Amino acid sequence: MNEQRGYVNHISRFVLLPGVGEAISLLNKNNHLVVVTSNQSGVAQGYFPVNLVHEIHELMKQELAKDGAYLDGVYFCPHHPHGVVSEYKKECRCRKPGIGLIERARVELDIDMQRSYVIGDRWLDIDFAYNANLPGILVLTGYGRGDFEYIVPHKRLKPTFVAEDLLRAVTWILQQDSS
Ligand SMILES: [Zn+2]
Repeated sequence: MNEQRGYVNHISRFVLLPGVGEAISLLNKNNHLVVVTSNQSGVAQGYFPVNLVHEIHELMKQELAKDGAYLDGVYFCPHHPHGVVSEYKKECRCRKPGIGLIERARVELDIDMQRSYVIGDRWLDIDFAYNANLPGILVLTGYGRGDFEYIVPHKRLKPTFVAEDLLRAVTWILQQDSS
């Protein structure tokens, strides 16, 4: 959703990509729940406080609202098995590609898994989708193009669909709904 600049370790580093608001508002209007999941191991590593993650999520929601878009849920994993912040140093179930975040969202938001998809710009998200038994869509924005060129060819598991960007991924999902 946002520009990739390594860790978003400061609020000034968060920039929404063009077309993201439009893509999410399309999902909103077509009765899809929109849930954001992320690994924020920088919290466990002591790179930034957990509050920054909340601030960035608020900013994300404000930016989306400008396009009339909203998120139904935002879930993140602050942990890392080798973290330095004791509270967050652990082997958890929520670090992607583990499916703890999806499980939590499924229960809290009563998600219909038969109509659900995972969209991401990392190979990790395709692994995550597979683990959750959902179709995985790789977008070529952010890290996506690099992961598509250099990682996907070496994997037996493939994305269900590869989209130039989030808007095209969403368009494809809406086509699946009606087919
Ligand atoms: Zn976790």
